[in-house]
Parts: sequence; C-alpha cells; structure tokens
Amino acid sequence: MAEYTTSKPEWAPDKDDENKFACGVMSGIDGITDTTVGNLNPALKNGTMKPKRKMVLSVDDYVKGVSAGDRVTLARAITLIESNNPKHFRKAQEVLQGLLPRTGKALRIGITGVPGAGKSTTIEAFGNMLCDMGHRVAVLAVDPTSSVTRGSILGDKTRMGTLSRRQEAFIRPSPAGGTLGGVARKSRETMLLCEAAGYDIILVETVGVGQSETTVRSMVDFFMLIVLTGAGDELQGIKKGIMELADAIVVNKADGDNLLKAKVARAEYERMIEFIRPATEGWRTHAYLASAYKKTGLKELWDVIRAFDKVTHDSGVFKRRRDSQLLDWVHSMIDEHLHNLFFDDPVVLGRMPEIKDAVLRGIISPTQAVAELIHIFDVQRATQRHVDLFHPDNQK
Ligand code: GDP
Repeated sequence: MAEYTTSKPEWAPDKDDENKFACGVMSGIDGITDTTVGNLNPALKNGTMKPKRKMVLSVDDYVKGVSAGDRVTLARAITLIESNNPKHFRKAQEVLQGLLPRTGKALRIGITGVPGAGKSTTIEAFGNMLCDMGHRVAVLAVDPTSSVTRGSILGDKTRMGTLSRRQEAFIRPSPAGGTLGGVARKSRETMLLCEAAGYDIILVETVGVGQSETTVRSMVDFFMLIVLTGAGDELQGIKKGIMELADAIVVNKADGDNLLKAKVARAEYERMIEFIRPATEGWRTHAYLASAYKKTGLKELWDVIRAFDKVTHDSGVFKRRRDSQLLDWVHSMIDEHLHNLFFDDPVVLGRMPEIKDAVLRGIISPTQAVAELIHIFDVQRATQRHVDLFHPDNQK
C-alpha cells in the first residue's frame, strides 16, 4: 500500500534542518517489480509490447502489436502514418507493407450529412448495436477543414461517450489540416491499420462540405446520407450530387412530434431518388426512417447494409468497386505527388511571380505561361538527375 509522508526525502537539500518537507511524497512506486508491471499492462506481459521499447518501436513491433489488436500500438501506428516527417513516412509504409495481408476484410461504411443531422449520435447508437452483436467497430473521420488549433470532428470524445469507452470500439478523429489529398491518404491508411488490428466494421464520418463526400465515397463500400425532417426547406440545402453518391438515405430524428414530419420527408426523398442514377450498379437506393435517440430503425438499417453486401458480392460489383478504388487511389497519389513536386520546386517558385505578372499584363497567354513553367520544371528535373548521376556516392 502506498504511504503518504511529509518527512524530508533523502534527495532534499541538507540545509532543511526542520526535516520537514512541504510536498507530500508517495512511496510505493519502488515496490513495482517486473511482474507487477506485467500485471498493469497485459500487452507487456504477453510480449506484444516491450517495456523498454516504449520510446521507439521497430517496424516489427508495430506489425506484431497491430496484428495482436493492441490499441496502444494501433494508435501509435496511426500517429506514424499521420506524421509529415519523411523518415516517419518511410517507416509507416514499411509497417503498412507488413500488415497488408491482414487488410481488406472489413465492411467499410461512409456516413455523411449536414452538421446537426445527427451523424455522431447515429454512429454512437449504431456502433454500440454492432458491438453488442459481436462486431469490432472502428470509427474514423475525414475532415480536410480540421486543424490542430481548431480541433476536428470526432475530436471531442464526449460526442461518442459510451462507444469510446468500449473495448470493441476504436475511435480516431480526422487527421488535422493539410490538403484533401493528404487527409485522404492518411485516412485510407488508417482504415487499413484498423482492419489489420481486427476491426471488421469501419465507419467513416465526413463533414458535409466541399469535396470530402466524394473522397469518402471513394474509400467505402456502402455510403449513407443522414438527413433531417422538414423536407421542404432542407431539400434545398442538399446537393443533388450527394444524393447520387448514397446507397441509403436515412431520415433521422424520426421520434416524438417529429415522427410525422419524418414520414413526409421520407416519402419526399423516395420520390426524388426515382430520378437519380443509382450510386451502385444493381442496387436501388431507398430512404429509411431512424431515430438515434430511440434507437429505432437501426437494426433495419443494418439489414439493408447486409443485403447490399450480399447483392454486390454475388454480382461481383463489390470486388470491382474495391479494385477500381485501389487504382483510383494510385492515380490520385500520383497527381498529388506531381503537384507537390512542381509547386515545391524552388526554381519554379522563383520564376512564378514574374510569369504570373506577364500573364496579368497581357504579355503572354496563360497557355504560354504554363508551357514556360513546365519547361523550367523539366530543365530543373533534368539538371537534378545529372547532378545525382555525378554525385560521388553514385560513382562507386
Ligand atoms: P452531427 O453534427 O451530424 O454529428 O449531429 P449530432 O449527432 O451532433 O446531433 C445534432 C443534434 O441532434 C444533437 O443535439 C442531438 O442530440 C440531436 N439528435 C441526434 N439524433 C437525434 C434523434 O434521433 N432524435 C432527436 N430528437 N434528436 C437527435
């Protein structure tokens, strides 16, 4: 048992002849032995984590820890993925490579809707229901507008209080800031890590603004749009484009006085869907009623998702979509990479103001300006390759 004392500990200055010490000292930490450390953290005991490696984990430590479903290692692996440090990037890619055979087996579900539609309340109720059914659920978010200072959706754990406390659930806020491409890569890789850690259902939340819906659609199997009642006004706010991405439209808050309005809204959405191209070949999108508060309609929603899973697996659409998502991912990363190479090139950056100015003054056309900048970039890259070739390290 730890003991509290105010007597002077041996490391206090000798001058203190009162032999009294202002701060209380807890004894007891010394009493912890290797075995008791093991008792505090079972992962230390069973060898999936090594106590002294706490500071720096090797690629192998990450692969083993994540494969064993260790949440601390998973969280650290995600932090590695999210890091902008090139050294971390390489290590993260090695970790991912080691975990790749364990990925791809989860069902990936995207959830979008305007702020206030009830996404986080629904995810909490739905996630708890899935955990009760024996699933392991990871909840991720894609919010390119988030930044370290502003916080992000899901950043506030209290939004999903009961779910975040469950062992079967893992909640991770959106990677902060950066370009949508950067956030998308980090979120996709985080999804793979969660799959490798044994989560069989991945819920990806998106803020209902800008391009993030398209990005999330491109990384999930099933996409649902959560909408509010009061169809008339609200329908104005929902972009038709987003409805075209949805495999299900969920009219939330179908409870209490709102139930009647929700039924009207559902019928309204059903009529609209008639005129919209289905998001998934061979699947008819419908509108459903749900209440995250009353936990109604959630079991039915899960039945819809399971039916979708079966239909698309049987028809081959599921596999085809996953394949094309992978290739799109490759393409979008090439785009992003080339974009960064160009816009981070110091010579290009140096000439940019002068060329932009020439365009604005009508001296050269935008097309000529682009040709000039690309030429500068090409020459710069060729020179760089030449320099690399004659670098002493490359002469051996
Ligand atoms: P988000 O911004 O889309 O994540 O929305 P929230 O989940 O934060 O919910 C917005 C507000 O709607 C909150 O005040 C919730 O308490 C409320 N809300 C969410 N789901 C329901 C529901 O099923 N019924 C009712 N009546 N209110 C709900």
